[in-house]
Amino acid sequence: MTEAPTGDDAGPDGRVVLITGGSRGIGSACARWFLSQGDRVAVTSRSGVVEDDLGPSDRLLSLACDVTDPAQVEAAYGAIEEAWGPVEVLVANAGITRDTLVLRMSEESWSDVIDTNLTGVFRVTKRAVGKMVRQHRGRIIIVSSVSAFIGSAGQANYAAAKAGLVGMARSLAREVASRAITVNVIAPGLVETDMLAALGEERKTAFASQVPLGRIARPEEIAAVVGFLSSEEAGYITGAVVPVDGGLAMGM
Ligand code: NDP
Repeated sequence: MTEAPTGDDAGPDGRVVLITGGSRGIGSACARWFLSQGDRVAVTSRSGVVEDDLGPSDRLLSLACDVTDPAQVEAAYGAIEEAWGPVEVLVANAGITRDTLVLRMSEESWSDVIDTNLTGVFRVTKRAVGKMVRQHRGRIIIVSSVSAFIGSAGQANYAAAKAGLVGMARSLAREVASRAITVNVIAPGLVETDMLAALGEERKTAFASQVPLGRIARPEEIAAVVGFLSSEEAGYITGAVVPVDGGLAMGM
């Protein structure tokens, strides 16, 4: 019987974790969670800049890597592997919005969002999976959105990408399950980050009023679920979509 990848397998230096889009918001909160567990965390973003107090330099690697550029993705993996070895936990989190109604949406707004939020996840995931398959262990957590399930006016590009991630993740989960690699999706609702701030106060308040729990999530509340999905205890969960949305998409 193949054992699930566990924290126990991690050794004294912790697991090697890659978080895309970890310079702020949800990705940054995830980085803090993994660092608090003693893992080694590589954080990527286009800027390559991380929050000042994110973590100790011997367990934190900050890299500039645009997920729309295959060469940059390859270079980032190369740097991580050289420093610590293969990635054992991937959190595919980098994402953007280019909101506007379909009638006004340019081809560019459509393809920018698909390239970052869907194809970007494919790129980083494909690169991680090769090594995970050889190691017979690995955890992949993909950050989708409640928009994939309930739709969102002004976000046809974003919702399409986020829905596409579910099909991609479930297909991959089936492909790699025999190697004890799990692939799961989390679907956050409204989370207090720069991305949400860009909506403006009026839209934010209107959205928040729809949430059964009556409030917006903190990034740490998403990070805790990502962390759980990476854990030994979550070894029998794969191909799942886990909502973290205050009940917004309940039943969908
Ligand atoms: P932020 O805008 O706060 O952070 C986005 C992160 O992605 C940044 O680190 C940004 O860094 C990085 N990023 C953006 N484009 C690229 C790129 N091409 N290559 C590499 N990194 C990139 O967003 P959130 O923290 O709110 O969102 C994180 C994820 O959660 C996203 O996938 C988002 O869709 C999802 N989500 C967010 C919700 C919310 O309410 N906030 C709700 C549901 C899902 P840089 O700009 O330096 O590249």
